[in-house]
Amino acid sequence: MTENKVNLMDLSPKEMTEFFVSLGEKPFRSQQLLRWIYQFGVTDFAEMTNLRKDLRVKLQEKARIAAPEIVSEQRSADGTIKWALDIGDGQLVESVFIPEESRNTLCISTQVGCPVKCAFCRTGQGGFNRNLTLSEIIGQVFRAETIVGFSNNEEYKPISNVVMMGMGEPLLNLKNVVAATEILLSDYAFALSKRRVTISTSGVAPIIEKIAGKVDVALALSLHAPNDELRNKLVPINQKYPIDEVLTAVRHYIDASNANCGRVTIEYVLLDGINDGLEQAAELASLLRELPCKINLIPFNPHEDSPYRRPSGNRVEKFYRTLLDQGFTVMKRSTRGDDISAACGQLAGQVKNRMHEQEIASTRR
Ligand code: SAH
Ligand code: SF4
Repeated sequence: MTENKVNLMDLSPKEMTEFFVSLGEKPFRSQQLLRWIYQFGVTDFAEMTNLRKDLRVKLQEKARIAAPEIVSEQRSADGTIKWALDIGDGQLVESVFIPEESRNTLCISTQVGCPVKCAFCRTGQGGFNRNLTLSEIIGQVFRAETIVGFSNNEEYKPISNVVMMGMGEPLLNLKNVVAATEILLSDYAFALSKRRVTISTSGVAPIIEKIAGKVDVALALSLHAPNDELRNKLVPINQKYPIDEVLTAVRHYIDASNANCGRVTIEYVLLDGINDGLEQAAELASLLRELPCKINLIPFNPHEDSPYRRPSGNRVEKFYRTLLDQGFTVMKRSTRGDDISAACGQLAGQVKNRMHEQEIASTRR
């Protein structure tokens, strides 16, 4: 009968409150539940000792708490861990845990595959099936915490940062992505700082405009090209929302945001001989001249069937220097977990394909 029971992990904090009110309970019950689930990792109502016995029984009848199960785990020599989670129907999504000295980052997926189909991305090349539900998104953080956080595992510290840079385009799954950020930020749940939760987008301009001033987490824009002609090929959604329109929307978003400290992160994958020349670095510098930003250079991570190559260290360095000399804040992202195909753009999961072109089309007002 689990199908008829509400999965509490599918409810945003507000919906959780409404659920308890509908049971004739006080709103603060929802705070207690959020704590049990997301701070203590408890999913059995019987263990929730600060709830009345009759409420626990009622919850058992009407509700359940379920996250997708981890079905495989791969550990990289550098400490990175990749998990695959079973979301039913033979499909898998992946998340990646990246431990560092000063922070522990979890990279989560928001869709099964991705409809944007960027030319260089393994996820995009694998096709698209559907949006993840809220419990499937927040369940990735819950499962990872079960292994590295809740259990007080001495080897790891809890997750401090969450980036939506796994499989999928977060802004094409807006409702569930926003609810997930609310749980990540809630003091009763993961209580992360808004600066430590990042939505990375290929540039869905009208959605960025729509959430400006309403959603406040860090924003990263996957730019990858200094002009529309090249970006149209690498990031096909650019044909709908060209660079100008996207940068205007990004500007509105960061102007209304505290989480970004006034600056957006620009991601730029370096593809050998395609977008990594010195002329392109100069063009990028003039494009971004007026935009408060920091630039994150990501040398391409190779994967099967890709015609692209990673540039030499020397080429990367020259591109980097050119931007630095023009006064930009620039970082080179180190490759983590590539021995287990866990680096940026290497996630494939297991996607049953479906044509879903209208997913992108429908975002146009
Ligand atoms: N869909 C969102 C978030 C997921 S992709 C987006 O595109 O922003 C996360 C980042 O990895 C993006 O900047 C993406 O362009 C980059 N990426 C994709 N494939 C890559 C590859 N093969 N090598 C390096 N980075 C890649
Ligand atoms: Fe989708 Fe991002 Fe990959 Fe592009 S880079 S196909 S938007 S996951």
